Amino acid sequence: RAKEMGKSRFKVFNARMREDTLRLMALETDLRFAVERGELSLRYHPIVDLEDGSLHGFESLLRWRRGNEDVSPAEFIPVAEDAGLIADIGAFVIEDVCRQVAAWQDTACDCGIVHVNISGRQLMRPGFAQMVDEILRRHGIAGSCLRFEVTESVLVRHGTLAVSVMHQLRELGIRLCLDDFGTGYSSLGYLRRLPVESLKIDRSFVWGMEKDEAGRALVRGILTLGLHLGLEVVAEGVETEEQAVLLRDMGCRYGQGFLYAKPLLSERVPPFVCLREAAVAGYGVSVSTGV
Ligand code: C2E
Ligand code: MG
Ligand code: MG
Ligand code: MG
Repeated sequence: RAKEMGKSRFKVFNARMREDTLRLMALETDLRFAVERGELSLRYHPIVDLEDGSLHGFESLLRWRRGNEDVSPAEFIPVAEDAGLIADIGAFVIEDVCRQVAAWQDTACDCGIVHVNISGRQLMRPGFAQMVDEILRRHGIAGSCLRFEVTESVLVRHGTLAVSVMHQLRELGIRLCLDDFGTGYSSLGYLRRLPVESLKIDRSFVWGMEKDEAGRALVRGILTLGLHLGLEVVAEGVETEEQAVLLRDMGCRYGQGFLYAKPLLSERVPPFVCLREAAVAGYGVSVSTGV
């Protein structure tokens, strides 16, 4: 009996593994053509100053429309990394962000700093900084318009080499932000020698922080560490007014989350910026919704 059960469980396990593998292979195949088929596009997620409700900037977030399906970047970015496609896809992202920022600047829309997610493999591709420099020049925008988000795993895997690429980016005027902070498994020692200006508190820490003191203690700990190192701190995943108020009162300056907006289509950005500016100037805004 036990043997039988073991066997059937093995079969179920096998079937699921097979399914997962087939899905990954199909995604990989389709992802190879996603850029040229125009299936990839960006959304822009507002980052807000928790003190006065003004706009700090946006984070660009990649979307893949695969037939009738929206595949989450949490699923396809790792596939792109493993298949060696991340350099091309990442180049598309930087290109598209720069084109968009230049267009917004032409219409005098002040979108603030635009954060761009950069994967480790992309950062470590030889000539990455030169490529970025070339794109910036072609679109006539300053590096200071952008902030690149990298995760701590980059540093764990690539160490000082990653740090040297980060310095090259700094020389282009691009600022850097440590994403998903606290979810990795690295030691804290590296934080001191990193050329980053900001860190992001992962949304997993923000969710539920209003419910218990332990959750708040974690957020406070990360925040204190960041502030003592002279970093700007952005909390992501802010969904409730209560979270926004707690974060602000703890001294967290910036917040990002569904409380303010879902990630926006690029054409929704200028109206969002205008409304926000008007609200801050004219009426004062509450910490949360503002607009
Ligand atoms: P991330 O960089 O940590 O991005 C934040 C994620 O949290 C986004 O998910 C965003 O939509 C979500 N989020 C922010 N606030 C809230 C909230 O209040 N509630 C909820 N439920 N979610 C919130 P998204 O867009 O699915 O992206 C997932 C991850 O995929 C990103 O995590 C990032 O690691 C990666 N990613 C997205 N775009 C790119 C890209 O262009 N390049 C690379 N390399 N990675 C990307
Ligand atoms: Mg990010
Ligand atoms: Mg993040
Ligand atoms: Mg995160």
